[in-house]
Amino acid sequence: MATSMLKFEYIQSNHFKQEDECEENKQKKGFEVLSDGFIYVKKKSNKDSNYWKCKHPKCLIYKCLTLTINFNNEIVGVSNVSHSIVEKNESIPEKDWHFPLNENQIKTLRFLKKVKERCSNEEMGPAKVFEDEQNKLFRTLLTSCDKDEVASLIPQFQSLKHGLQKRRNRTHEQYCRKCNLK
Ligand SMILES: [Zn+2]
Repeated sequence: MATSMLKFEYIQSNHFKQEDECEENKQKKGFEVLSDGFIYVKKKSNKDSNYWKCKHPKCLIYKCLTLTINFNNEIVGVSNVSHSIVEKNESIPEKDWHFPLNENQIKTLRFLKKVKERCSNEEMGPAKVFEDEQNKLFRTLLTSCDKDEVASLIPQFQSLKHGLQKRRNRTHEQYCRKCNLK
């Protein structure tokens, strides 16, 4: 696969901390990579690049697609192995299924990313941010089928509340500190 054809974006992992959001974080601590419907986790950092491997448990053990992304955020290497795709199949345990995320799953991931970002960067309360982004997301969905699917994918606000509140409090403290310095 030509490396230039592949697009990717960084998404915050569950271990993301606010301080990871900085230019100096070349090792991309706290992030995962989303590319072509697959999520990658970092296996190691080199002198000027990071090496990412497909997150699927099977692919973590066996050979699977890997990406090398340099510190200028360019894909400089792709392994010549593909994902060990396993289609949905009732006779195989669900944890072994492996296929790209669909459009709605990606939209949901982006939604969560946006909510987290805004809770870190804005003064608005998490519940409001969540509602606002949820409305925006649903406006992009055209069929009731898509709406049902996304509704089932979005986590309950209650389950995110604590983490989002922590982000917001940290931001709020920073704002207050800045104000006090003036
Ligand atoms: Zn894979």
